[in-house]
Amino acid sequence: MLNIREIVIKIADIRAYSENLRVFRLTLPEGSGFSFVPGQFVMVSLPGFAAANGRKIAKSYSIASSPSETGILELCIALYPSGALSPKLFQKNVGDEVVVTGPYGVFQLKQSIQSGTVFMAGGTGLAPLMSMLRSLYAGGYNEKLWLFYSASEPKLFLFKEELLGYQKNNNLQLIASTSRPDNTWEWEKGRVTDTFPSFLHQLQGDGVPSESRQFYICGPPLMVSDTVKMLEQIGFKKENIHKEQW
Ligand SMILES: Cc1cc2nc3c(=O)[nH]c(=O)nc-3n(C[C@H](O)[C@H](O)[C@H](O)COP(=O)(O)OP(=O)(O)OC[C@H]3O[C@@H](n4cnc5c(N)ncnc54)[C@H](O)[C@@H]3O)c2cc1C
Repeated sequence: MLNIREIVIKIADIRAYSENLRVFRLTLPEGSGFSFVPGQFVMVSLPGFAAANGRKIAKSYSIASSPSETGILELCIALYPSGALSPKLFQKNVGDEVVVTGPYGVFQLKQSIQSGTVFMAGGTGLAPLMSMLRSLYAGGYNEKLWLFYSASEPKLFLFKEELLGYQKNNNLQLIASTSRPDNTWEWEKGRVTDTFPSFLHQLQGDGVPSESRQFYICGPPLMVSDTVKMLEQIGFKKENIHKEQW
């Protein structure tokens, strides 16, 4: 049984991918009792920071770390320069405190993961899928899984080295892409709706029947709706498509 907790928590590390994308690692205090399932999110607010009317400003962020990495919560946060909370979060430094409430959300892996399951992410939508993949690989999973992941530009390829490691060692079929490749980009061009059709034949070659193929999709609303539409047009089943969007 998961319990909702509110915890004041320290920023242990900040990795800046660009001026607009950061990965925050938060250290849970010992004995916090916080637990979560891969795919869930937390509400983040700042101590003493509220709207003009006095209401606390709290925003949702998916957890990218795995529950197997005890004591750590990792969040991938995009900056919305005119936003209420993200610009304040981007002013924070290592050692500063944030308030985390959660976990929340029902976007979770089905209990028995099926070989050939497809994960599809756009931008920070990788976060909850990363938690799922990390937790599977931490548990020794080595059946074939697919990840179609599109970053808006090459430098925003989140967790690149780690994902390439899973591709090399854990049977992850990684199809990374960007719509704006530069001359350093070694992977695919376009969004997941561009790359998926090119790999469909290869995907079907792994022998999983289309009617039981499972999908986990996360990203911006348009990316998710376009992807779901494409999958349904190809003939994949609606009830096997699990999604989260923001
Ligand atoms: C379940 C869930 C999980 C989420 N996980 C993440 C995550 O892992 N990483 C992450 O960065 N965000 C995530 N979000 C989005 C996050 O909660 C905030 O909405 C986002 O950080 C903007 O908050 P803000 O207070 O800075 O901006 P706001 O004050 O909410 O908005 C500022 C301006 O930006 C625009 N805007 C806000 N969000 C978007 C958007 N997504 N696309 C385009 N324009 C937008 C608004 O229309 C407004 O004009 C998630 C949301 C949900 C519901």
